Amino acid sequence: MYLSVCSRFTILLGALLSAAFAAPLHAQSTGAARAETPYLSQEDAAARSARVSNVAYTLDFTLTGEPTFTATSRIDFDLIDTAAPLTVDLNNAKISALTVNGKAITPVYNQWFITIAASDLRVGRNTVSVSYGREHSTNGEGLHRYVDKTDGRVYLYSHFEPAAAHQMFAAFDQPDLKATYALTATAPKEWFVISSTPETRIEDLGTTRRWTFPATPKLSPYNFSMHAGPYKMWEDRSGKYPMRLFARQSLASQVAPQDWFRFTGRGLEYFDDYFGIPYPFKKYDQVLVPQFIYGAMENAAAVTFAENGFTSPSAMTTAQRQGLASTILHEMAHQWFGDLVTMRWWNGLWLNESFASYMATLASAQSGEFDNPWLSQYRSKQGAYRTDESITTHPIEVPVPSSANAFDNIDAITYNKGASTLHQLRQLIGEETFRRGVHEYLVRHSYGNATLDDFIGALSKASGRDLQPWAQEWLYQPGLNKLSAEFQCRDGKLSTFHLQQSAANAAYPTLRSQLVQVGLFNVSKGKLVLTEKQAVTYTGASTEVPTLIGKACPDLVYPNVGDWGFVKVVLDAKSFSTARTQLSQIEDPLLRSMLWQSLTDGLLDRRLGLENYIETTLVNAPKETDYTLLRQALGNIGTGRSYLRRFAAGSAVDRQLSAKMETTVWTGLLTDKANRDRARSWLDTYIDIASSDAALARLGHLLSGKADAGGVEIDQDTRWAIIKQLNRHAVPGSDALIKQEQARDNSESGQLSALSATVIRPDAKAKMAWLGKVQSLDNSEPFARLRVAMGALYPGGQEALSETSADQRLASLADIDQKADRVFMRSYAGRMIPSTCTPASVDRLAKAISANTNLSAGTRRSLLLAHENDVRCVAIRAVFDQVQANK
Ligand SMILES: [Zn+2]
Repeated sequence: MYLSVCSRFTILLGALLSAAFAAPLHAQSTGAARAETPYLSQEDAAARSARVSNVAYTLDFTLTGEPTFTATSRIDFDLIDTAAPLTVDLNNAKISALTVNGKAITPVYNQWFITIAASDLRVGRNTVSVSYGREHSTNGEGLHRYVDKTDGRVYLYSHFEPAAAHQMFAAFDQPDLKATYALTATAPKEWFVISSTPETRIEDLGTTRRWTFPATPKLSPYNFSMHAGPYKMWEDRSGKYPMRLFARQSLASQVAPQDWFRFTGRGLEYFDDYFGIPYPFKKYDQVLVPQFIYGAMENAAAVTFAENGFTSPSAMTTAQRQGLASTILHEMAHQWFGDLVTMRWWNGLWLNESFASYMATLASAQSGEFDNPWLSQYRSKQGAYRTDESITTHPIEVPVPSSANAFDNIDAITYNKGASTLHQLRQLIGEETFRRGVHEYLVRHSYGNATLDDFIGALSKASGRDLQPWAQEWLYQPGLNKLSAEFQCRDGKLSTFHLQQSAANAAYPTLRSQLVQVGLFNVSKGKLVLTEKQAVTYTGASTEVPTLIGKACPDLVYPNVGDWGFVKVVLDAKSFSTARTQLSQIEDPLLRSMLWQSLTDGLLDRRLGLENYIETTLVNAPKETDYTLLRQALGNIGTGRSYLRRFAAGSAVDRQLSAKMETTVWTGLLTDKANRDRARSWLDTYIDIASSDAALARLGHLLSGKADAGGVEIDQDTRWAIIKQLNRHAVPGSDALIKQEQARDNSESGQLSALSATVIRPDAKAKMAWLGKVQSLDNSEPFARLRVAMGALYPGGQEALSETSADQRLASLADIDQKADRVFMRSYAGRMIPSTCTPASVDRLAKAISANTNLSAGTRRSLLLAHENDVRCVAIRAVFDQVQANK
């Protein structure tokens, strides 16, 4: 699965396991009846898979496009004993018939699972058949239904990870009960039905058609899927495997199928070769689906993608195309690593995700189409560093007691720290040895399940060394280390040199051993040039590097050149000062990216005041020649802008710095107008930061066509971004623009943009109404809309409005946490916990942490994070205020 598609829609997921870091639950049957909850514990799952095997599903669906569907699930399986009842998962269905081994049974059903009495079962082969009706879901899990308001067409798609297959069919919904799935579906005549195998028959029944799909290879329930609707289809049969692409009819003009097929075709060739195992399925389908709550999902041979981020009303930018390629490759890697070989239980999810992320980088690097996949990997590691230095960090490998906790740790540690450790491991044992170990692992566990020990065991065998100690240090111990260089010079030469290691967070003091490259740089003829590079394995708190003694005294030392290591570099004072003045004089883009990052770290760690940070960024951003780095630099401007907004909005210094930012960014846009990618990045930033009357007026003119942006196209997405920004500042007349624009654009993304622009207005009454809607867990609004509303309610700069409901939001947190489902709560806790960057707000959060001890793990983690971020914001503010006072 891919979490998010672009920064504007980043999903913040996560939870604190707190006391759950205790010993893992051991898989054994206690003989006790399964707990009556919507979730499945690891213990119950293990007890079931110990008894059940050889599972085969025969599924039949009747799909009409109406809000409910009817279906029959037949499950054939072997059972080793009849000592206890057996449960079958089926969520919220109206059961019309249940037969067990041919005998009609009155269902014992709690809306979560059916319990079949031991007396109705037999040792050996059993058959359970359930006929039922169920509502389609609207929260993006199960069998989601969507009505396209532009043309009335209905689209369905399934999403099951982690455990929502039983929202569509009766199942043993756990990853280690792999099964075959034979499917028939009756659907309206003009619909496609898409699943894991190619259909073998389409029968014309007049107004409907009946589709037949032969049994799949063995898959975990969460990797099976079915999507249906009058999708537009593109097809490419030029490669080794047939490829198809689907999207809603009304979105078809925004899809670039040639890019999709090129990335997909090349990827399949690459992975066939890399894994040394042919692609395990018969065709490769990719489906763009509406209201998808993640970025993408690796359903076997029928991958789903969010529409947003992978479609565009104008030609995609290079960054968007790179994101598309990387996501396609990530999901493709899962077809082997995830679908062909699957984790036994959800504690193995990180390896799944890390591996797919890492393979996407390797495949991108090999394709040569984008010149900086390793730079992208470095950028994505930053999220892992931030998460790993937080109080809420966790080991990469953690116990997951229940399916309720499966996504508690879906975060930057799971995806990006994990991917970094795999990169380390590959450096450690060698590229070819790593590949061979992966191949052996996949061959050995094909169509089955495996654990981390199996993976480490395969790599240990391939490399001839015991990798368990490495795994213990990196995978089972949480927390980030900091690394800095400490040196002295005499007569222009290094006289001492040490690498100093420390824990980024005192609560997690583990120090580690790691191979890094230390680079020494000197200013020469206006450039900062590399004068020395050495590979060093550091260990413990201090590592002396005698081989550097006598080298020219450096102006800058970077102790992780080439980004081999997973460690936060803290520049020594001299290097930090050099970085600030020489940033644009560095030729290597990766090192430049690292120094841009050092500036941001400097702001967050209070080595650099906000004003200084903004000034340095504004001087260097226009000189940035690399497109990816320009986006990073513009991101830094956005970071500076958002802090200013939070605690200095409207002040004289805010007005002065804002004007500077607006001028620099607008000038950058005009300077780069001939380069579409760069110009778009400047324009997007300009819209995001605009706050002065002049800049907001210019946005209005761009919208009405009275002004132009150096010839850069103002496409539909850009029009909405402008309207949102005008409404954020309640520019007179901007509310009327929302309705006008909806008349032009009634698409799904248009409706979400209109909602966002409406909710973001600083209008106390409207905000309270939407807050009420969100908090009442109102089912009449699809989750996709509630999520957008949550994101727009209390943006930076509207702290006073946020304060009006802050106490209420904290007071009701526990209650909502208890009532809401996990999907809702991940968004709610990430967006709705109030933090307003004042000592009083920090204090209020601290009290809420003490008072709310029974929150779900995910919500508690969000609360702790909100507090930690608020503490940091207050500290940055204090430095800023001090600077202003000294003026
Ligand atoms: Zn994934």
